[in-house]
Amino acid sequence: MIIVLKPDATADQIQHIEKSVHEWGLRTHFSRGTERSVIGIIGDESVLANKPLDVFPGVDSVMSIQKPYRLASREFQSKATKIAIPWGRPGGEPVEIGGERIVVVAGSCSVETPDIMLETARYIISAGARMMRAGAFKPRTSPYAFQGLGVEGLKILAQVRAETGLPFITEVMDTRDVEMVAEIADVVQIGARNTQNFSLLKAVGRTRTPVLLKRGIAGTLEELLMSAEYILSQGNDRVILCERGIRTFERATRNTLDLNAVPVLRKLSHLPISVDPSHGTGAADLVTPMAMAGVACGADLLLVETHPNPEKATSDGAQTINEAQFRKMMDGVRGIASVLGRSL
Ligand code: PEP
Ligand code: MN
Repeated sequence: MIIVLKPDATADQIQHIEKSVHEWGLRTHFSRGTERSVIGIIGDESVLANKPLDVFPGVDSVMSIQKPYRLASREFQSKATKIAIPWGRPGGEPVEIGGERIVVVAGSCSVETPDIMLETARYIISAGARMMRAGAFKPRTSPYAFQGLGVEGLKILAQVRAETGLPFITEVMDTRDVEMVAEIADVVQIGARNTQNFSLLKAVGRTRTPVLLKRGIAGTLEELLMSAEYILSQGNDRVILCERGIRTFERATRNTLDLNAVPVLRKLSHLPISVDPSHGTGAADLVTPMAMAGVACGADLLLVETHPNPEKATSDGAQTINEAQFRKMMDGVRGIASVLGRSL
């Protein structure tokens, strides 16, 4: 349910409405928009059955939200959510996700040695990336494949951040690790295999660390938004949605990058949207065209796998681009962004 306020509703009237809703055992979320301001109601709405909310002073109308997700919906919040990530060294400008500037997040699939991570950080910064990515805990299809450096990997990422300023995104796979990873990472990633791991979603929802939520391998957009709702409903309002390709009948590529998702999610939700052209294609030579396409259809953030020597990457080498390819990708992406009146 949302309460649409009259344009001239006073602060006292808004406070009175919120206080009454709280007394009925529900929570509220105030959202000031340019065209209209609304109060979203969170909780079991059946108690509102006999409550004459529409006669409260300052109320224009009361509407029910038709979608199964609420906090994630545009109806609930018309204004786009922007997420500010502090720069990792004193004096640096924060990285804003969901604003006019597109954020490129780049790095190897898994955390590699400190030297490789530092070398990667240096070239991605000089090419215009503003965050780093790499997994310390890796969800691998085979239990015999490299599983990531674990806590040691987190330390390497933090060390690289301290030296270069680059904030980082890293995946958390286990509820027992959530507090630790959320404490050190700038953004925690929920991977495609865990999009519907509801205990994990609730656990990251209880932290205040932003979450990059990947679409499930066979997940619909509604399921993705319901997963975002799990996080938001726990009080963490900083969620970034990520299209990373879905499993289809097409086997020419590892996954099918569903770019329809970007404008569809934009319509349905106020949350920032990211595209991962690396997992979306599984092939290094397809990363640049699909990164450009992701920006063309409105992505706020790109998540890209790069490594100084992809042949030696400990995971996902086939879809990983090297420095020269990364620089070329950045040029292409910058060109598309400028056509849209955006920048990197
Ligand atoms: C990753 O980002 O390295 C990863 C494992 O992604 P996904 O969950 O999309 O497969
Ligand atoms: Mn990977």
